[in-house]
Amino acid sequence: MNFRKRIKSAKRIVIKVGSSMVTYKNGHINLERIDNLSRAISDMVNSGKEVVLVSSGAVSAGFGKLRLKEKPDNIRETQALSAIGQCELMHIYSKFFGEYSHIVGQILLTRDVLEDEHLKENVCNTFELLLKKGVIPIVNENDSVSIDELENIAKLGDNDNLSALVSSLINADLLIILSDIEGFYDCDPRKNKNAIMIKEIREFTEEMEKYAGKAGSDFGTGGMATKLKAAKTATSVGVDVILASGKNPCIIRNILRGEDVGSLFVANKNRGEDKYGKFNING
Ligand code: GLU
Repeated sequence: MNFRKRIKSAKRIVIKVGSSMVTYKNGHINLERIDNLSRAISDMVNSGKEVVLVSSGAVSAGFGKLRLKEKPDNIRETQALSAIGQCELMHIYSKFFGEYSHIVGQILLTRDVLEDEHLKENVCNTFELLLKKGVIPIVNENDSVSIDELENIAKLGDNDNLSALVSSLINADLLIILSDIEGFYDCDPRKNKNAIMIKEIREFTEEMEKYAGKAGSDFGTGGMATKLKAAKTATSVGVDVILASGKNPCIIRNILRGEDVGSLFVANKNRGEDKYGKFNING
């Protein structure tokens, strides 16, 4: 089966962008990237798709807004930065999506929300209503609430994981993870120029976990390992996952045409559906 063809008919799509996609190293907003991303997503919605954007970048944008020189090394300051940066990010998203005649809504999540059936139902209803109204939900972890001491209770960990969770929650067809790497490689392409990209993954092996390593970016918590884990989670509940470079967000268009870009993690479509997705948060 040509699984890329299936991508073309995906209706409900989650797109995840990392901090290094939407902000520069100094924390200032990458306006061109956010503009292109907003344009590409607006066009998707115009064509009849439903899109949820999971965006990191709050901490980084807060750092940029305060023009700090060094990244804080404590949780409190990081949380304060996220509170500042989240406003900045949403302001910019709202502005650019507005240029393309679209409305955005912010959803900030913590682990406890997704573990509590009642809260989960509430947030699911919000997603459904926003999507029904053609609004683009923009999701991030509620960093100023999910604190270190509660790490195991409230913190979701990373936005790759969060994007897999959201995909499950809203029964998405496709999750697109846009990163600063072109796809999933057999070793780190930044260190090894002979690295080979794996175009289609149907099975998760121990070897792949070794490939993924631990590398992360400056402000995001994710690296290839968290992306692999997110792909594993999402595919296990029936969501196809594409990992691709987000340097040029127009790539979304190529992905949706079924073109052979990035790495495709093929969904296990034998999932049993339940009302709010089948994801086990501890899984
Ligand atoms: N929630 C964090 C932020 O917006 C990023 C977490 C992550 O990248 O995994 O800054």
